Amino acid sequence: MSAASREAGVSGIPSDGLPVSGRIHHVATVVRDLDAAVKFHAEVLGLPLEQIADVPSQEVRIAFLTAGDSKIELVAPTNSTSGVARFLEAKGEGFHHLCLEVADIDAELQRLAATGIQLINAVAVEGVEGPVAFLHPKSCHGILVELIEAPGGPAWKRLGYGDPAQLRIR
Ligand code: ZN
Repeated sequence: MSAASREAGVSGIPSDGLPVSGRIHHVATVVRDLDAAVKFHAEVLGLPLEQIADVPSQEVRIAFLTAGDSKIELVAPTNSTSGVARFLEAKGEGFHHLCLEVADIDAELQRLAATGIQLINAVAVEGVEGPVAFLHPKSCHGILVELIEAPGGPAWKRLGYGDPAQLRIR
C-alpha cells in the first residue's frame, strides 16, 4: 500500500475519536481439535506458539500464535453444549471473530453504544490477553468483532491485571 492511499484511509476516520489503534490484535478461528490445529499452525505454517489456555467461563480451550504484528487465536470447545460447540456444529471449522486493539475499551464501548451499535458486552470483561468486549455481528456487517484494550490502559487496572510486560502481550 502506498503512503498516499494510507493517508486517505486515515483521513476517513472521524476527528472526534475512534480510539482504535488500527492494529488487528488477532483473528480467531474455531477448531475441532486444538492440539491438531496448533500443530498445523506451528509446524506447517511456521507460526510461533505463544500460549495455550483453558477458559472455563467460556467452556473453551484456546491457543495464541504469533503472526507478525498480529496473532491467530484458535478456539476449541471443551464440551458439546457451549456457544462455541454449537457454532462448530452449525458452521464447521473456520473464521470466528476479528479482534481490534483500542486505547480505552470502556470509553470506546460507550461511544459505540451511543451510535446505536449493539454490544454483547456493555463493559469490558477479563480476557486471556487483556480486557475484551464483543460487538454483535448484526451491527458489524456480519462479523463478530472483539475489542481488546492495549496493555496498560484504564481497564487493565479496573480488572486487576498485573504488569502487562509480564504477560508477553506483544
Ligand atoms: Zn479473540
